[in-house]
Amino acid sequence: MIIVLKPGIARKQETVILQEIRRRGYKPHVMRGVACTVIGAIGDELTHQSLETLAMVFPDIVESVTPVQKRYKFVSREAHPENSAIPVREHFVGGKKFHVMAGPCSVESADQLLRTADAVKAAGATILRGGAFKPRTSPYEFQGLGEKGLKLLARARRETGLAVITELLSERHADLVAEYTDIIQIGARNAQNFQLLIAAAKTGKPILLKRGLSMKIEEWLLAGEYVLAHGNANLMFCERGIRTFETYTRNTLDLAAVPIIKNESHCPIVIDPSQGAGRSDLVKALCKGAVAMGADALLIEVHPNPAEAWSDGSQQVSLEGFTQLMRELRPLLQAVGRE
Ligand code: PEP
Ligand code: MN
Repeated sequence: MIIVLKPGIARKQETVILQEIRRRGYKPHVMRGVACTVIGAIGDELTHQSLETLAMVFPDIVESVTPVQKRYKFVSREAHPENSAIPVREHFVGGKKFHVMAGPCSVESADQLLRTADAVKAAGATILRGGAFKPRTSPYEFQGLGEKGLKLLARARRETGLAVITELLSERHADLVAEYTDIIQIGARNAQNFQLLIAAAKTGKPILLKRGLSMKIEEWLLAGEYVLAHGNANLMFCERGIRTFETYTRNTLDLAAVPIIKNESHCPIVIDPSQGAGRSDLVKALCKGAVAMGADALLIEVHPNPAEAWSDGSQQVSLEGFTQLMRELRPLLQAVGRE
């Protein structure tokens, strides 16, 4: 912590602050400048009582208190300098191989899911996405097939060999969802539902944590910290756009989050251009941008007939559109050294 004292503070008052810093378990280091005195307080800010209240307790002496340590620990790159590669069945997300997770927004029927699974697999996807529990804005919209949807995902996995990712909406479904899926998706609306994050972490399954609708990157990293702090090291972050004033797109996909997460954390970063744009015509360009910026994987909504989809029709790409998209990604992946 860096504590700046007000200009013209007497030694006696300075001593009061030094004593208080020691009392709270830190070692003070005093730097007396021309205009004011700065105190560096050495100690672990994560385990010691915070010094942030000093300015409030001694308003006539302390000008400001600034933390120097990050508030997250296990997700930080300092804690783990190497990239983490997350095991998902026989795959590793975050390693040299780039992964594409693709499939419908919602699981609707066996025919819809299996046709999509076959097509995305043929095009090169390794992980099948599909929502069985859907977080819909309106209670009158399709809420997902629930366990029936999970069973269809498991069947698609059996028949195609694709790994599976699906969303967990409620703590009480944690064990059920974990029984059927290879990756648990925590949606944007639940990104700071800490009890849900803990329940998901405790299943031991890899977790894909979407960025919340209006979430700062620090808050997102701290939400991820809950997963690692509860004993689950297999975390992926997923940028899916944030709420801004823009109306041409459903959300504003923040591709700057890719290098920022890469700098701050060892966990893989996945881009979801579908929720990001809300428009199927933008998905291809956003995927290319994500690859160029160093993302580790994509999460793309694909539907055999987007116009008839039960959710998010406007942003889902067709089977043919997805095949073409994968073709166009290949040279880009090669250019950035990914397989
Ligand atoms: C989804 O993936 O279909 C979804 C609901 O995502 P998000 O939580 O990002 O809105
Ligand atoms: Mn969706």
